[in-house]
Amino acid sequence: MSTFKAPKGTYDLLPPDSAAYLAVREAIAAPLRNSGYGYIETPGFENVELFARGVGESTDIVTKEMYAFETKGGDRLALRPEGTASVLRAALEANLHKAGNLPVKLWYSGSYYRYERPQKGRYRHFSQVGAEAIGAEDPAIDAELIILADQSYRSLGLKDFRILLNSLGDSECRPVYRAALQDFLRGLDLDEDTRRRIDINPLRVLDDKRPQVQEQLTGVPLLRDYLCDACKAYHEQVRELITAAGVRYEDDPKLVRGLDYYTRTTFEFVHDGLGSQSAVGGGGRYDGLSEMIGGPALPSVGWALGVDRTVLALEAEGVRLDLPSTTSVFAVPLGDEARRVLFAKITELRRKGIAADFAFGGRGLKGAMKSANRSGARYTLVAGERDLADGVAQLKDMESGEQRPVALDTVVAELTRLLG
Ligand code: AMP
Repeated sequence: MSTFKAPKGTYDLLPPDSAAYLAVREAIAAPLRNSGYGYIETPGFENVELFARGVGESTDIVTKEMYAFETKGGDRLALRPEGTASVLRAALEANLHKAGNLPVKLWYSGSYYRYERPQKGRYRHFSQVGAEAIGAEDPAIDAELIILADQSYRSLGLKDFRILLNSLGDSECRPVYRAALQDFLRGLDLDEDTRRRIDINPLRVLDDKRPQVQEQLTGVPLLRDYLCDACKAYHEQVRELITAAGVRYEDDPKLVRGLDYYTRTTFEFVHDGLGSQSAVGGGGRYDGLSEMIGGPALPSVGWALGVDRTVLALEAEGVRLDLPSTTSVFAVPLGDEARRVLFAKITELRRKGIAADFAFGGRGLKGAMKSANRSGARYTLVAGERDLADGVAQLKDMESGEQRPVALDTVVAELTRLLG
């Protein structure tokens, strides 16, 4: 073992478990690719001000959890704590919104960084796959995103997740609600930190998980009773469209999220097998974000699903993904001449698109066959001096255990045929 370990709050993804991560990323991305979303990749760090303005100066993400630093050149940067602000920044910078094709639909996949207290399901480096639909105010696009996330989870075989849905109103109705909420909260018995929150970000108090706070919140004014007619009608349409698609959800009038930019539709995907870190994904509408970062008015909606927690959710439900073995053919040469001949066959198979591997290191038959077994290969090719003299290799079917000689000059064609 080296003297170095992965930094606190991080972990390494190693085979064979890493295959499940790739499969989860792929499963989340597939419905997006199939629905008009184009792939976008942005840098792992951005100007710190983008997140301060975009995510919100008063959020935990910005005040406590951001990896912010100054470069040698004097730039103030931060490792990205989330994807939306970066994606919108990139879309605006490239004028994607001016190409006359709104909404601009984008999906992304990558690593995100938050200096959080690590625990199961909460890491300082984690992965998300996300989607954003930029520049359209249409309940159908909010519904589309919720339906696609649901489809992703279901395609993985997940069942014990719930969709929580709320509307956070807009710039017309939210301020009225905010004031009513502040009045109510000021009458409660709260600690100093929470009292400070009442002034800066009162909606976040609704999200406080402590029982002594939740108890006092009975009778708290709810945003749904303050929604303006436009927000109410919009939300009603989102609900109807999701319902018509057969996607079940729960209205959660207290759902708020840890980012300031959300307006109207807000949702979270929670999994009941994950304990305290139960949110596997979340998102919503962010109609004001573009203007907050200096762009034009561009009503938008998006979500991000956590890859790490989705993998934990699969484990919690005991779902084993049906991942095909990565290797189809494994070659075991006995002797130098066989090494040369079989290595050439493996190269040829690979060029034909057949997954093939080789017993490297000149080990004996026993050790090499162990590797062949471990590789999960369907067929093994074994050849020694006598086989070569006969112009054959031994083809072993690892499922039936049967073995037969196959002429060397037809073995690639034969394997191609067998593997269909
Ligand atoms: P958020 O941007 O906070 O809504 O995060 C969206 C999703 O990313 C969450 O639902 C989690 O699945 C995942 N996520 C957020 N923070 C972490 C973290 N520190 N560790 C692991 N996953 C996270």
